[in-house]
Amino acid sequence: MSCPICKKSTVVEFRPFCSLRCADIDLGRWVTGKYAIPAVDEDSIDEAADAIENNNQNIH
Ligand SMILES: [Zn+2]
Repeated sequence: MSCPICKKSTVVEFRPFCSLRCADIDLGRWVTGKYAIPAVDEDSIDEAADAIENNNQNIH
């Protein structure tokens, strides 16, 4: 099984993702309604992670 976000091997602790980072990205997509990203590459992952981090800072 591979991570649905970045296609790396999953880690049991974070299944079905490879890391907490990818789990947060997936959650962020649902929350923000941006699940229609056509192609996920490293750059878009970083951008999504940054957006999530910014959102979290705004919440707190
Ligand atoms: Zn991943």
